[in-house]
Amino acid sequence: MKIGIIGLGLIGGSLGLSLRELGHLVFGVSRQEETCEVARDKGIVDEAGVHLSLLAAADIIFICTPINAIAPTISALIPHLQPQTIITDVGSVKTPVVEACSSLWHNFVGGHPMAGTEHSGIFSAQLQLFTNAPYVLTPTDTTPIESVKILQELVTSLGAVVHICSPADHDQAVALISHLPVMISASLVATCTEGAAEKILNLAQNFASSGFRDTSRVGGGNPELGVMMAKYNGKLLARSLQQYRQNLDQIIALIEQEDWQGLEDILTMTQQERAKFL
Ligand code: NAP
Repeated sequence: MKIGIIGLGLIGGSLGLSLRELGHLVFGVSRQEETCEVARDKGIVDEAGVHLSLLAAADIIFICTPINAIAPTISALIPHLQPQTIITDVGSVKTPVVEACSSLWHNFVGGHPMAGTEHSGIFSAQLQLFTNAPYVLTPTDTTPIESVKILQELVTSLGAVVHICSPADHDQAVALISHLPVMISASLVATCTEGAAEKILNLAQNFASSGFRDTSRVGGGNPELGVMMAKYNGKLLARSLQQYRQNLDQIIALIEQEDWQGLEDILTMTQQERAKFL
């Protein structure tokens, strides 16, 4: 297939590597000529350029820009497209993106690969990023079923595991398991940074190991991505954070009351429940 990618960063670059490996012809569009050069050198694309007209012959186009640029990018792309071209996006929030993009292009299928790293930009692109990762597609009543099927097959061929749900259900679920962890992890890093005297802070920085690496990773990632999650999924994220604050208050109270049994009950429950998520 001829595949277009707009936004050659972590997700767009990784898609390019994986799709070329599968034998597809990949055209990439970046705003900067230097990025196009890197994309060609690293084998992320067959052809790259700064003009959207490069994608005129594409069968499927992945929009891999930050969330706020997805709909404006589609508006700019439309004059170059054939009517049958499928457009999809990879944005981390779906309801506002799908609403805006479906009204711009009839053949739009919302998507979200549940894969990433704390890095961003073209140099962080990696083959296999999507292997065994969930990949959510969020069609609506008006999305062409045939396009969903084509995209589902393509994404499955990347080694990803496709899930199909409504944009609203997607946003509720990711508010819990993706957007909430970013804010919690950021608060963790902020607490460690602000809370201690310099000597203790130095020790903590030297002692930090695997536990801190696991719990701080998503809070130490691309700030723009975190802001976009909050801006576009704000209500659901705030609700998750309030629920989280209640749980935190409960744990604080148990510790202050030296209710070790109560604390053990919670930790036993979370030890059992965590396995259901991973
Ligand atoms: P990224 O590494 O920063 O890449 C985004 C790319 O978009 C940039 O490299 C840039 O590419 C282009 N871009 C930036 N601002 C733009 C603008 N205003 N207009 C047009 N293009 C612009 O970010 P990413 O992590 O790949 O995220 C891209 C999308 O994937 C986002 O919508 C995000 O929600 C979603 N996502 C991210 C993750 C994650 O963990 N990182 C996971 C799943 C989904 P050029 O320089 O080539 O123009």
